[in-house]
Amino acid sequence: MVSGSIDPGKEKTVAYNKPIPPKAQHTAPFWEGAKEGRLMLPRCTNCNRVHWYPRLICPFCHSMELEWIEASGEGRIHTYAVQHRAFGGWAEEVPYVTAFIDLNEGDRMMTVLRGVDPARPEEIRIGAKVKVEFEAADEDTHIPFFRVVEGG
Ligand SMILES: [Zn+2]
Repeated sequence: MVSGSIDPGKEKTVAYNKPIPPKAQHTAPFWEGAKEGRLMLPRCTNCNRVHWYPRLICPFCHSMELEWIEASGEGRIHTYAVQHRAFGGWAEEVPYVTAFIDLNEGDRMMTVLRGVDPARPEEIRIGAKVKVEFEAADEDTHIPFFRVVEGG
């Protein structure tokens, strides 16, 4: 876990207090990449399509012949919503924006969208270009989120 201790005379260190996704053997490449700031996506070597979330079987052609590719980390906003109610650690962040991102490599990823003003949703543009960033939840878990990199 990231330290939650208080260093006297310094700013309080707050531990990551949101749910941490469980890990499985078939998602390990994703988490390893995330630790290095790389977005890894599963791709089927039979139909060549990328899918999200990671699965043991391609959701398009049902092949089990999968590989991992390093994605660009770029995509565009498919749609978004402003969240006004949440549980646990997320409750401390409301209002915040979630979005579905059309990844450049294909398929769609749900995410928290940072760098936007939840009080001004009309300024968030469908199709806006976004890029992935990662936030450390603990030593082994870096959580992806997306940020708008091109306005308007
Ligand atoms: Zn396939």
